[in-house]
Amino acid sequence: MKLMVTFSRKRGREPVIAQVVRDTGVLINVERAQIDSHEGEALIEVPDESCQLVRERMEALGATTRRLDRTILYDRDECVDCGACISICPQDVFAFDPEWQLVVEEGKCVLCGKCQLACPHGALTLQL
Ligand code: SF4
Ligand code: SF4
Repeated sequence: MKLMVTFSRKRGREPVIAQVVRDTGVLINVERAQIDSHEGEALIEVPDESCQLVRERMEALGATTRRLDRTILYDRDECVDCGACISICPQDVFAFDPEWQLVVEEGKCVLCGKCQLACPHGALTLQL
């Protein structure tokens, strides 16, 4: 399960994610993080069965969490199988099948947004 975690840096430089890993014993995969002097935002992946535990502990530490059931929405009707998204995606979310039709492995997406900008037919929409 993917979670978007937002935390304020006003509380200091507490390592929220590391603290939650230590407190819960749940291994957290950080897929993307953006941190500035005011706040931080991280996209993390946690095992489905531990999602609630991780969320509760993070929120107790002052972070907000948002569950992401979808990452990128793919509109097959708009797609012209041009392959622009295949070359630009850093996570290999896209590929062609043997009939040269696009296949999408949404679970690998880290919400960088590059494919949405690259698609000439508006067939891809980030689910933020
Ligand atoms: S948002 Fe980024 S990681 Fe996700 S499918 Fe698009 S290019 Fe790939
Ligand atoms: S860039 Fe858009 S139109 Fe081209 S293959 Fe990807 S989803 Fe389809």
